[in-house]
Amino acid sequence: METAGITRDYDDPDPTCARCGSPCEWVECRDCGGNGYTHHMRCETCWGDGWWWECISDAAWCEAHPLPGREGVERGNVEVIQ
Ligand SMILES: [Zn+2]
Ligand SMILES: [Zn+2]
Repeated sequence: METAGITRDYDDPDPTCARCGSPCEWVECRDCGGNGYTHHMRCETCWGDGWWWECISDAAWCEAHPLPGREGVERGNVEVIQ
């Protein structure tokens, strides 16, 4: 997952879904509780980040309504407009 330059700070510029352009919300990893590790192993769900941005639109809508030229972009990619 591309998270370069993204921090946990809610005051950061708004991230948007790179596929459909919807805003994204901060989601804490439900498998490791945001620690990034479970049983001293790197969490395989979040790859140690403990959190990620997630498109607020539901998956079906996001899949059906890509922005022009973004048809090949998978849901889960996030852009941060600086
Ligand atoms: Zn996790
Ligand atoms: Zn989306």
